[in-house]
Amino acid sequence: MKYAVAIVNIKNNVKEAIEKAIKLIDWKPNDSSFLIKPNMINSRKSDEGVTTDPRIVSSIIEILKDLGCKIYVGDSPGNAYPGRARKIFEATGMLNVIENSGAKFIEFESEPPKRININGRILKSIAIATPILKNKIVNVPKLKTHTQTLMTGAIKNISMGSIPGSGKAYIHRVGITPKKMAMAIIDVYSIIKPMISLNIMDAIVCMEGNGPTNGIPIRLNKILVSRDALALDMIAFKMAGLEPSKVPYINEAIRRGIGPRSYNDIPILGDPFEIVKFKLPSTFIIKAYSLLSYFAPIIMHSVKINYEKCTGCGNCASSCPMGAISMRGKAVINKSKCIRCYVCHEVCEFGAVDLKKSFLA
Ligand code: SF4
Ligand code: SF4
Repeated sequence: MKYAVAIVNIKNNVKEAIEKAIKLIDWKPNDSSFLIKPNMINSRKSDEGVTTDPRIVSSIIEILKDLGCKIYVGDSPGNAYPGRARKIFEATGMLNVIENSGAKFIEFESEPPKRININGRILKSIAIATPILKNKIVNVPKLKTHTQTLMTGAIKNISMGSIPGSGKAYIHRVGITPKKMAMAIIDVYSIIKPMISLNIMDAIVCMEGNGPTNGIPIRLNKILVSRDALALDMIAFKMAGLEPSKVPYINEAIRRGIGPRSYNDIPILGDPFEIVKFKLPSTFIIKAYSLLSYFAPIIMHSVKINYEKCTGCGNCASSCPMGAISMRGKAVINKSKCIRCYVCHEVCEFGAVDLKKSFLA
């Protein structure tokens, strides 16, 4: 049952659904201290399909508190500098939930990360946020499409979210093609996997289209729970209408044998499994990505600033891994430096970065 995934439709309240799912997979915590790791990418709310629903986090805190556990909640959002995570947790209502429930908020950027030797397929070493290495983790991703990785769920939430500050930019520079990005994500996941005790996926309001921040919200009203992040992602992505192995980082994880090899190996418990076909990101041509990743940079969409929407906040410039954006009142992109990683599209809270289809696409 280590790969079992429970799917529960929310009928009365979120806590009841989580308790039911945890019971179905028979999860009992053996540890006394937990870090809850939601997906807090920017200050857009959970009902916009962007960040984890605070009701899920408050329910987990209550459940763990009843078991006498010490609870921390933290994340490293996009463009993370000291103080940004607190602002995002505050704006989304998450900080209020944490402080009112007796858990402790931790900002991953508040203490120096620990450099870990990975010796992975693409990463030799990586600096991981210290709280991730000190506690057992309850990983709380949100089900969304993603312009760069096609989908995002449990594995990506814990891997990219564990790398504080400028480390994320390094991953984007290394992961220049979808295949290389998949290798980097799974290199990090392989290190963190033993720390994960439970994965609880927010599939209440998900995102389709050009996610993870500027796509279209889609309400499923479900909670998915599993001990295994790969099993959870495979079932969730199948539910979103995709063959899981078409998602490059899922394919990479399957190839490395670090979890179930097929969704047919995963027991599904709880409410009936229903497929809801998500609109995929316009940036992603599955066949091209799997067969022609060498040519991906010329097939991929380019990015363009929408000057009517740009507020000149500078988030995109400080997040761009290539230093391709300068601020001249508003953002200006140097196309010759751009690697089309779409980080600017992801971090812009004003929807001011447009994706432009290439001629070949
Ligand atoms: S494009 Fe978006 S993130 Fe960049 S400066 Fe303009 S508003 Fe800010
Ligand atoms: S301009 Fe945007 S898409 Fe291009 S490298 Fe910078 S963050 Fe990535």
